[in-house]
Amino acid sequence: VRRLEDVGEHEWIARLTRRLSGAGKHARVLVGPGDDAAVIAAGRRPLLLTTDTLREGVHFRTRWLTPRALGRRAFAVNASDLAAMGGLPTFALLALEAPPATPVPHLDALVSGFASAARETGARLVGGNLVRGSALALTAALIGEAPGRVVTRAGARPGDGLWVTGQLGAAGVAIRALTRGRQARLSEPPRRLRAGSVLAGLASAMIDVSDGLLQDLGHLCRASNVAADLEIEHLPVAPRCQRALGPAAAAFAAIAGEDYELLFALPPRREQALARVRARLGCRLTRIGRVRRGRPRVRVLDGAGRPLALGRRGFDHFR
Ligand SMILES: [Mg+2]
Repeated sequence: VRRLEDVGEHEWIARLTRRLSGAGKHARVLVGPGDDAAVIAAGRRPLLLTTDTLREGVHFRTRWLTPRALGRRAFAVNASDLAAMGGLPTFALLALEAPPATPVPHLDALVSGFASAARETGARLVGGNLVRGSALALTAALIGEAPGRVVTRAGARPGDGLWVTGQLGAAGVAIRALTRGRQARLSEPPRRLRAGSVLAGLASAMIDVSDGLLQDLGHLCRASNVAADLEIEHLPVAPRCQRALGPAAAAFAAIAGEDYELLFALPPRREQALARVRARLGCRLTRIGRVRRGRPRVRVLDGAGRPLALGRRGFDHFR
């Protein structure tokens, strides 16, 4: 198999851009991959910009995922940040760092995985970069637009309910098993773009759950300057997490990261409106607590309403 060091940066990029030029066609792409920069026609809506990196040894090990699944994951985790604000992705850039011995088919599959995940949401990969590195790393940048209202982390008010989409803990269980050298399937992050754009019209604050529910709820509380109660018995724990951890599953699901579900605060007066749009979200929705007046702090309550201490709070790169 040919490796990057056999092919070189320029030949690989030239081949890739030939392949992408058809797939990247879009009325608003004036100059696509292959030139010094991409050129896109601006729309009338506000633009949302986000970037995120997946690095081998920090976020994944190569044996955990096929190259294609890794490319799809890189798109999904960035799209999740847009979903959390009510945005839909329109254009993407992908910067790659790879060791010289990387098999070319792996890198090809990685980029086509990314590009196909983008296309499935209506977005286009319009450019990127490749540099030599000691480990594989993917940095994606996404541009999105909001079809309606944009929601931030900062609007939650005392009395709002706290809600979460989907289920929690399955990705955490898979990553824990993989880290311990066992076999496990790390599923693709859920796609909550449609849910995010609908919920943005109703929520007072929203965030995606990437670093663990407890930690991300803490971010929302600090941005909104409120406190929160999390009712742990109401957490929608994924069956896979429940099977693996039994009675400890809910506490694990509260701190395990990589769920990429949406956590939002909803004023009581919008609950009827939420009931009306619920069927359109394409995912389940669970009320898991409430926002309180007070210093930004998350209290975890057990089934009897007693505060619990969970210890570790979630993922942090530097702690
Ligand atoms: Mg986020």
